[in-house]
This record gives sequence, C-alpha cells and structure tokens, in this order.
Amino acid sequence: MNASTPSWPDSWLDHLAPAEVEFLREVAAFAANDIAPHASAWEEEEAIPREAFTKAGRIGLLGMTAPRALGGREFSYVAAALAVRELAKYQGAFAIDVAAHNALGVGHPLAAGSEAQHKLLFPKIADGTWLMAWALTEPEAGSDSGGVQTVAKEVAPGKWELNGQKRYITMGHWAEYLIVMAVSGQTPEGKKEFSAFLVHQSKIKPGRKVPTCGLRASDTAEFELVGAPGDLLGPRGSGQAMALACLDKGRIGVAAVSLGLARAALDAALQHAVNRRQFGKRLADFQALQFMLADCEVELRAAEALVLQAAVLAKRGARHTLESSVAKLYASEAASRICNRVIQIHGGYGYTRDIPVERFWRDARLSEIGEGSSEVQRIIISRTLLKAMEGKR
Ligand SMILES: Cc1cc2nc3c(=O)[nH]c(=O)nc-3n(C[C@H](O)[C@H](O)[C@H](O)COP(=O)(O)OP(=O)(O)OC[C@H]3O[C@@H](n4cnc5c(N)ncnc54)[C@H](O)[C@@H]3O)c2cc1C
Repeated sequence: MNASTPSWPDSWLDHLAPAEVEFLREVAAFAANDIAPHASAWEEEEAIPREAFTKAGRIGLLGMTAPRALGGREFSYVAAALAVRELAKYQGAFAIDVAAHNALGVGHPLAAGSEAQHKLLFPKIADGTWLMAWALTEPEAGSDSGGVQTVAKEVAPGKWELNGQKRYITMGHWAEYLIVMAVSGQTPEGKKEFSAFLVHQSKIKPGRKVPTCGLRASDTAEFELVGAPGDLLGPRGSGQAMALACLDKGRIGVAAVSLGLARAALDAALQHAVNRRQFGKRLADFQALQFMLADCEVELRAAEALVLQAAVLAKRGARHTLESSVAKLYASEAASRICNRVIQIHGGYGYTRDIPVERFWRDARLSEIGEGSSEVQRIIISRTLLKAMEGKR
C-alpha cells in the first residue's frame, strides 16, 4: 500500500460520504508528506511549526465538523475520528492538537457562542488562521473539575475579569484564543457556579511549556490570568454542562489518537517480525511472538469497533457519553498494551530512539490520563449503568 493511501477498518466505510472519503485521501497525503518526514525532528525540538497547522487548516483539518456556513467542512465525527487516527499514525502530538482544537476549541464556541462570537472566531478558527485552546485543568482541579479556583468577576455589566492559574493546557501558548473555565459566582443552592470565557492570547501571562513524557512536540502549557478580560461564552452558569458535552466529543478524538498510534506500532512490529532473524528463524516464526501479534490485532479491532460506535452516535446527534467513555477507556488502555508489546517484539531496537515505537508508547500513555483518566471513565460508565438500573426499578 502506498504510504499516503488511507486505510481504515472496512466497517467504517459504510458511514462515510464520498466527500469524506476524498477528504481522508487528502489527509493521508498530508500526513505522509507534511508530517511524517518531520515527526522525529519536531519531537526533539519540542515544537510544531505554525506552517503545519496552516496547511492542515487549508485542507479542512481544523474545522472538520463545523458548518460550511462558518467555514468548516461539516463532516461527521466518523470522518473526523478517521482523520485524527491517520495523523496519529505519524505523530501523536500533531494528532492530539488537531483533535483538541476541533472537539473543544471549535466545538465549544460552536455550541455556546453568540452570533458576535461566531463572527469573531469563524472562519479563522476553522481554516487554520487561528488556533484554539481549552483550559479547565488547574493545580487544584484535575479529575475533580469542581476544584476550579480561577475566578471570574463581573466588573461592569457584561465585562468580566479573570484571575487564576491553568496548567497542562494543549496549545495554551500557541492559541490565539483560549476558552477558560472559571467560577463566576454561586448557584441558588450555594454551590460554585461555573462559566466559560473567551480570552485573547495577549491577556494571559504565559508560564512554562510543561516537560512531558510523550507528545513533546505539543505545546502543553501553563499560564496565569491576572485581571484578564474575558468574554462570557454561553449562558452564565452553563460552563460545566458545556464542558462535559464537549468532552463527549473530545474523548472520541483521544481514542482515535490511540487507534492511530497502536496501528502504526503494530505495523512496525509485523515488519520487524518478518525481517529479523534469530536462532536461524524469523522472529515471526516464534509462536510466543505470533500470539503477541494476534492479541494486538484483536484488541485493536475491538478498540476500532468501540470508537466507531461512539462516532456513529455522535454523527446521528444522539447522546453518547457512555459510548465515548467506553471507547476512550478501552482504546487508550489497549494502545498502551499494544505499544508495550511492540517494544518487546523489537527487543533492544524497540527501546532505542532509532525507530519511533518508543515514541508511540510514550505518546499513547497520555490517552489514559487526558480528558478524564481511565479511573474517571470507569466512574462515568459504572454511574451510567447503575442510574439506568435504578431508573428501571
Ligand atoms: C499532555 C497533556 C495535555 C493536556 N491537555 C489539557 C487541555 O488541553 N485542557 C485541560 O483542561 N486539561 C488538559 N490536560 C489535563 C488532563 O485533563 C488532566 O491531567 C487529567 O484530567 C487528570 O487530572 P490530574 O492531572 O489533576 O490528575 P488527578 O486528578 O490528580 O488524578 C491523579 C490520579 O488519581 C486518580 N483519581 C482522581 N480522582 C479519582 C477518583 N474519584 N476515583 C478514582 N481515582 C481518582 C486519577 O485517575 C489519577 O490516576 C492535559 C494533560 C496532559 C498531561
């Protein structure tokens, strides 16, 4: 198969429109020609040139599901997941940036933004002119988003100022606009009221680029807000509900990154197993390694099927919180297991930085943590099951 020919599990094809198939061909060519040759160097430099995002925007990768009227491509989440998976086969960092930008950075203002905010942001955030970041996490608020301490104060009618700290924010320094979750007051029940705010890049105080284990080329950033002006995004008090809805989509993207990394790793293992000889035989002739390859393929196919299930529901506009959590939980843990086995199949070579499998392994690990850890996904899944059961009683 040509390096730029997209490949996807057969069952996905039934869910793609001809224009989406054409788009995925373009994405595959872009990934092979514009990402693959630079992936290792960007990882060493711990940065991705802006030009790569500009080119990605030109082919529609930064506004995949946004309406055409706003400059997007109006594709389904099935096509978007496949596009992210294709990018991740070459570089996890670029894929996660594109996934987060689409689901959170574009998805949130699309769903909650006013006409004026749409006018400000579109088509620039869909065509690659501007990047978006989405900032929930803080030193005291990770899995427990209720721990957010960033405060938004209405200093004059409709004018808000934000104070607080955010950390681990994807593209937090690169993005022209950031969506910042903050406490905007108290609910009638005396609980924290959360709202989302649109903040311009020039209003944040940038901190460190966080030195991460994998995804080093991605801009994982810290920043501070000191009296930063913010524009309320969506109705006051709707921040948490909107954030959760965006994460339903975001988790499909994170799971798609896992699929791409795991598929690339498995392809590398298959190549190595037929090329490398020990004890006068190909590695592929040892049953111990054959079984590892078989387990990788089975787990990957199961993960692909689960991601497709969530993406099809998202395409239909149906609720898919449970399915997104199931897909992200399984795909991310399967990808880590697969990448770990792939290193084993490569032996010492797999542990070197001469080939990218160690990078795939480091990159895959994030998906078990970001956009809700595996433990948080298990909480969501079990809570949904138990609620449904109790509702039937
Ligand atoms: C590379 C990278 C990119 C990121 N990008 C973004 C971004 O763009 N925007 C953003 O807002 N955030 C981002 N994050 C933050 C990410 O979403 C959080 O790291 C994640 O939600 C976990 O939060 P935490 O790190 O505070 O861990 P903690 O919440 O401190 O969790 C630590 C451990 O405790 C477990 N745990 C916590 N609570 C429970 C519980 N109730 N039951 C069982 N176990 C529990 C967790 O599962 C985990 O294993 C990013 C993180 C990284 C590393």
